[in-house]
Amino acid sequence: MTQRDDDKNEPKPADPFAGLTIDFGGTDTANGSSGGPVSFGAPIAFDAPPAAVELPRSRRPGAGGPNDGGDRDENRTKLLIIGSGPAGLTAAIYASRANLEPIVLAGVVPGGQLMITSDVENYPGFPEGILGPELMAKFREQAERFGSRIYDVDVERVDFSERPFRVWARGIEYRADSVVVATGASALWLGLESETRLRGRGVSSCATCDGFFFRDKEIAVVGGGDTALEEATYLTRFASKVHLLHRRDSFRASKIMVDRAYDNPKIAVHTNIAVEEVLGGAKVEGLRLRNTATNDLTEVPMEGLFIAIGYRPNTEVFRDWLELDEKGYLVVNDETGSKVDGVFIAGDVHDHRYRQAVTAAGDGCKAAIDAERWLEAQGISEATTATAW
Ligand code: NAP
Repeated sequence: MTQRDDDKNEPKPADPFAGLTIDFGGTDTANGSSGGPVSFGAPIAFDAPPAAVELPRSRRPGAGGPNDGGDRDENRTKLLIIGSGPAGLTAAIYASRANLEPIVLAGVVPGGQLMITSDVENYPGFPEGILGPELMAKFREQAERFGSRIYDVDVERVDFSERPFRVWARGIEYRADSVVVATGASALWLGLESETRLRGRGVSSCATCDGFFFRDKEIAVVGGGDTALEEATYLTRFASKVHLLHRRDSFRASKIMVDRAYDNPKIAVHTNIAVEEVLGGAKVEGLRLRNTATNDLTEVPMEGLFIAIGYRPNTEVFRDWLELDEKGYLVVNDETGSKVDGVFIAGDVHDHRYRQAVTAAGDGCKAAIDAERWLEAQGISEATTATAW
C-alpha cells in the first residue's frame, strides 16, 4: 500500500490519531495569510506504539552450508523471486506449493510498502484490520512453511542474457531457470526529517490505506499531479477539510481533476505553497508553509499530511534487460510476461494504476503460475494440475 524511498520499519500506532485533541480556534490559513497563534487543546494523550513486528528470519545466503540435507545448490533454483511485498511473497507461496523451492531475494528492508503502513483494513480476510508489518510477517511465514528460501538482501545486478539467469546480491551469484520481478515502487517523499519522523503518525502517502483514520480531521495533501488531486478528492469522504498544497500555480494534473477539486466545497486549493516542516512531537499537529512566490513563512494547525508527489518504480537494475515505459515502470506482455522468455513481472513494479496489496498479491499468484507453466513447457519442472496450486 503505502510508500517509499528510504523506507524504515518503524513501529506504528494502531490509530495514528488515537487520543489527539486539537483546538483549531477557527484558524484556516494555509494560503499564507496570518492566522494568529496556533492553539492546541490539552491534554494530548497518545497511545503507545505497538512493538515492532519481528519478521521470521530465514537462513542467510552464503553461510557456508553447501546443501540443505541433500545435493541442492543453495544459490541455484528453478525460480528466483526478487522482492518480498505482497506480489513477491504470494509468488513464493504458490511456487513453493508447486515444489519449485523458490529463492526469494527480499531486499534489506523486506516486506515492501506494507512495512510502513499502520492498520490495513482493506485486505480481505481480516475483518478487524491488521498491522501492515504483521500481515507481511504472515505472508512470509506462509511462504517459508512450504519451503521458500528467503534472504534479506538487495539485488545489485542481473544478467538475463542467457539461461540460467544470473542475479547478484551482496556479492553472491544466484542462478535461476526463471525469475519473477516483484520489486515494487516507492512513493517519493519531500525529504524532511519531520516528515520521516511522523510517518504513520499523521504523515502518509496512501489515501486509500490511511484515509479512514482522518475522519472529521483537517488535513493537507501535497502535490499537483493526478495522484494528489485524486487523493484529495478521495479524502473528502473522511476529512472535514482537505487543503491541497501545490508548489506552483499551474497543475500537472488533468483539467477535469483540477476542476473537480476547485468545485469541491471540502477542498481548499492553495497554489505556490511548499511544506517547509511538519510540526508535532508524536503526531502531526501543524505545518510550516512557505509561499514560493513571496518566501513568506506561516504555521498552520493540521492533523494530517498526505504526500502525493509521485512514485518511483524500483527498476534500476533491470534497465538494461527489460522494457521500461516512459515513467520507468516495467512493461508486461500477456499478463505477467516480459520481453525475456522466463522472466515474469508482478505487482507495483509495473502497476501504477491500482497499487493495492490485494492486486499485487493477485499478480504474484499469476506470475508464479505462469512461471511454473513455462518451466513445465521447458521440461524443467514436472507437470502440475490446477488443483496442485
Ligand atoms: P506527477 O504527475 O509526476 O506529479 C507529481 C506532482 O508532485 C507534481 O505536481 C510536482 O510538482 C509535485 N512534486 C514533485 N516533487 C515535489 C516536491 N519535492 N515538493 C512538492 N511538490 C512536488 O505524479 P502523479 O500525480 O503521481 O502521477 C503519475 C502518473 O500517474 C501521471 O501520468 C498521472 O496522470 C497518472 N495518474 C493517473 C490517475 C488517473 O488517471 N486517475 C491517477 C493518478 C495518477 P510540479 O508540477 O511543480 O513538478
